[in-house]
Amino acid sequence: MDRNWSEMNKAMQALIAKKDTFREGMEKLLELRKSLFEQITQIVTAFPKEAFYQMPFAGAEGYHSKTLAYSIWHIFRIEDIVAHEMIAEDQQILFSRDFQTAICSPIITTGNELTGDEIADFSKQLNIQALYAYAREVMKSSDQILTSLEYSDLKRKFGEDMVEKLRRTGCVSSKESAAWLIEYWCGKDVQGLIRMPFSRHWIMHIEAMQRIKNRLCRLARKGVDPIACCGFSCNHCFLGEWCGSCRTAYNTCSFATISPDGKCPNAVCCQEKSIDGCYECDQLETCEKGFYTPANDGANAARAQAVYIRKYGKKAFLKVHDRLHEKYDFARTQEILGQDWQEGLRILEEN
Ligand code: SF4
Ligand code: SF4
Ligand code: SF4
Repeated sequence: MDRNWSEMNKAMQALIAKKDTFREGMEKLLELRKSLFEQITQIVTAFPKEAFYQMPFAGAEGYHSKTLAYSIWHIFRIEDIVAHEMIAEDQQILFSRDFQTAICSPIITTGNELTGDEIADFSKQLNIQALYAYAREVMKSSDQILTSLEYSDLKRKFGEDMVEKLRRTGCVSSKESAAWLIEYWCGKDVQGLIRMPFSRHWIMHIEAMQRIKNRLCRLARKGVDPIACCGFSCNHCFLGEWCGSCRTAYNTCSFATISPDGKCPNAVCCQEKSIDGCYECDQLETCEKGFYTPANDGANAARAQAVYIRKYGKKAFLKVHDRLHEKYDFARTQEILGQDWQEGLRILEEN
């Protein structure tokens, strides 16, 4: 489990267990959920539609054997049911806002009953933007419910009436692979539900989503030119393991993910100019677009590298980086090259 999330989760559990620190614990819970949800946002922003129904670990044991779309649906269907049917005892977000139609989902259940190919088929049908809007709304309303809880609510239990009520909703399949969920939830008190599904359940599925996403990126990068449009080397980049490159639809460069629509302005500009990269552009030395924005920390290093590629070619550039990376890691290399682009170019030429 991701160390940060695991530690936050442990700290949150310990804090909510004591009356004096309960409120602080609930704040930590919201902080943890926010950090986890950011991962979903990044994936939805950066990845193409087809990424959401790929199963790169099909047949494996574990949550990573599912799809990205299924994972989002499953996390938030479970949370919607538990938050609204069990804790708040009001209407689920799926029904109160008619998200089922918008998402184009053929089911209202948690999806536990679906198997391999059914998961892939189901995932293909979903409107990902609507699914993301649903997830956001469920999180928002759950956060409100969680915030309104008092310490004394933690020991609240659920009886046979709740079991019957949940069965009647039809939101949990009666198939053996899913039906156990109702007894499982109703066997917990509110404190137990905070763990599953409001925190640990998210961590497990979002970590699985990261595994899926990283595998998809690695597959996308296979055989693709390792030189990024702005002049970076994907072979030497610290994100190389997890980024599909700006030459594919799986671009998870951190700069791209924070750009409008998840598209890096430099990559877009190169495409519009029908050039291979900024190193082919006659405005390279003075360009202030995207990554070359003067206020951007990496601007000088990227420009130095792009100018080097223009002068000496990609092969020579990759060799220089091999040599530099024998001495320094990615961050230090970029720091050395980035104080001033002419100086960065000189260092590249000297190595
Ligand atoms: S800043 Fe843009 S061009 Fe440079 S590596 Fe990232 S996505 Fe590619
Ligand atoms: S962040 Fe940029 S340089 Fe790094 S792997 Fe992705 S596209 Fe390549
Ligand atoms: S104008 Fe700037 S971003 Fe566009 S191709 Fe030229 S150097 Fe790259």
